[in-house]
Amino acid sequence: MAEHIHKCLTDLHYTIAKLCPLCNTTTVLPRPPKFSLQDKYAALRREEKKKELKEKKLY
Ligand SMILES: [Zn+2]
Repeated sequence: MAEHIHKCLTDLHYTIAKLCPLCNTTTVLPRPPKFSLQDKYAALRREEKKKELKEKKLY
């Protein structure tokens, strides 16, 4: 079967790599992750959001 398609949250680029070839950040599976109390993606989401806000000088 095909490999999972990952998505870069920074530039919305799709790739099969775990690192975006364009901006070198970690890519995620675009479909919503299964619910988990530990929420593995929370830290990643916050980190990306922080980066975004910093770029816009809002952080
Ligand atoms: Zn990227």
